[in-house]
Amino acid sequence: MNTRPANTHLPLVFAAVAVVLFGCGKNDETAATGGAATSAVSTELQPHQQLAKDVFKELVETDTTFTGNTTIAAERLAARAIAAGFPDEDVHVVGPSETKGNLVVRLRGRDSGQKPLLLLAHIDVVDANPEDWTMDPFTFIEQDGYFYGRGTADDKNEAAIHFANLIRLKEEGFQPDRDIIVALTADEESVDNTDNGVQWLLANRPELIDAAYVINEGGGGAMRNGERISNNVQASEKVYQSFALRVTNPGGHSSLPTKENAIYRLADALIRLRAHDFPVSLNEVTRAFFERSKELEDGELAAAMEGVLQTPPNPSAVAFLSRTPYYNARLRTTCVATMLEGGHADNALPQSAQASVNCRMLPTDDPAAVKETLVTVIGDPQVAVTPITPPYPAPPSPLTPEMLGAVEAVTEEMWPGVPVIPTMSTGITDAYYLRNAGIPVYGISGIFDDINENRAHGQNERVPVQSFFEGQEFLYRLTRRLSSGDVE
Ligand SMILES: [Zn+2]
Repeated sequence: MNTRPANTHLPLVFAAVAVVLFGCGKNDETAATGGAATSAVSTELQPHQQLAKDVFKELVETDTTFTGNTTIAAERLAARAIAAGFPDEDVHVVGPSETKGNLVVRLRGRDSGQKPLLLLAHIDVVDANPEDWTMDPFTFIEQDGYFYGRGTADDKNEAAIHFANLIRLKEEGFQPDRDIIVALTADEESVDNTDNGVQWLLANRPELIDAAYVINEGGGGAMRNGERISNNVQASEKVYQSFALRVTNPGGHSSLPTKENAIYRLADALIRLRAHDFPVSLNEVTRAFFERSKELEDGELAAAMEGVLQTPPNPSAVAFLSRTPYYNARLRTTCVATMLEGGHADNALPQSAQASVNCRMLPTDDPAAVKETLVTVIGDPQVAVTPITPPYPAPPSPLTPEMLGAVEAVTEEMWPGVPVIPTMSTGITDAYYLRNAGIPVYGISGIFDDINENRAHGQNERVPVQSFFEGQEFLYRLTRRLSSGDVE
């Protein structure tokens, strides 16, 4: 279940996160002016890079849209893993149906006492209409320093990288302390989630993916005009819940109107809701986000980030940041009207009116308290407030020295001076289910892209060739470090 807000030109640090989570096509001017691409062409590749590229191509050219088939893609990779020497008992293609298969491959560690490291990516993609693209979305194309195709930025790039890195570790005879699991799953993108692979595995084969922590999508490197700005680690996602606001009324003939009207009463309630801002509340992740982001900003923005970190937060700093939807959404829970319906006939007074209000709650806020606040703000017992979806509380993942330290160390090795910034997303990934199951998840890729580039779910989706292979090397080193404390 992933719902995505529309994008505008995003300020600094979080655009990289956007590359993964928010999807709308962007036109090509970025490539001309500030794209992250270099003239890198993927020739003379090392064997593990060639494998990553071959797997990437195979995945992009396998139809894994909602009506497609992830089992075909999973089976092909399973055959590669077996050919690389993984025993049958460590290679699984399992799922709720013939077309919704999930691949799980395990590289055994020497110390079974430690819980595994899980490398997670989804291999399903949202649909793409070839008429909207300037090239075929389901053909893997290398052009102008980019790899193009549906899923190249969300999320087949990370799937190919994790799989190729596991094969490389196997072929190098690397034996980690803890098991390393690669899970490539189905239906992360589907709205109703019935066949969501992570949910299915947690419910039916939890032993296959149980882990100490998980590396997932949701993070990434931010660039501007070819310069690397920050390497972002997504450690938290807001909690999604929608409420129905409903008013009923006896109605009557519209030629005899009264001041008491279901639509007006609902409209008044919505106006009161619009005026309400939930209180500012920072958690470990958002505090670290503002602390580190302020070092990258200057002027009023840097001062406001400084101010919001005070206890209590400086009111004018809060007011300043609240004017930018991106920062506002990181300061507090938000609830907004998204859908409206009312009335049954043009010549009749409405007998009912209903609105849908979508809330994105801070993971540290209590959903029941948020509902109570809605009732209080609306302040009208004739407006019934009813949950439409259950909340899925998912605690932020702790910024442990083990995890953050490892990411910082490898980032410094590969991109000296580039800061690591923890982030909280407003969108949702499968981390939702794992965090809810008590397994910490970190969105990390080391794949850098321009802050104004966000083609995930959009037209002409792409990833810079150089960033893809650098991301492969970054994740390879991080995987070694987290699975064995092995410092390259
Ligand atoms: Zn995704």
